[in-house]
Amino acid sequence: MRIGFGYDSHRLAVGRRLVLGGKEIPHEKGLLGHSDADVLIHAVCDAVLGAVGGGDIGRQFPDTDPAYRGISSLILLERVRELAVAKGFQVCNVDSTIVLERPKLAPHLPAMVENIARVLQISPAQIGVKAKTNEGMGLVGAGEGAAAFAVVLVEGEGLS
Ligand code: MG
Repeated sequence: MRIGFGYDSHRLAVGRRLVLGGKEIPHEKGLLGHSDADVLIHAVCDAVLGAVGGGDIGRQFPDTDPAYRGISSLILLERVRELAVAKGFQVCNVDSTIVLERPKLAPHLPAMVENIARVLQISPAQIGVKAKTNEGMGLVGAGEGAAAFAVVLVEGEGLS
């Protein structure tokens, strides 16, 4: 068994869709990035990649590559899962936290769990997605962006 940890952050900007955990959330701003800027999925990708010795999301999917412009990060997560399998690992479970001041995410968390479980081909009971504000502190607290943290456990023989 191995564990992996992932962190990501993105700025909020007008004129962008807010997509978290593959779920589009109505809001006056969205996250800025080359892909759909799904900060939660990026943290999960980095956690899986870290666990299996796969580097990080920037190395796997460079933001200089036009192929990834506007892409759903769920597609990136699917590729990360395939890479983990190719390296001899299966994802056992994921736990994660999104930090965002507004809007309230609680109503959207079950859909995020379902999306991640579907892409990783494991049960929703093996996925944790939590949401917190930053209590008004710092840049996230001022509503300038969002951050996400994720840990994963993988198991397998670990092909070299
Ligand atoms: Mg990112």
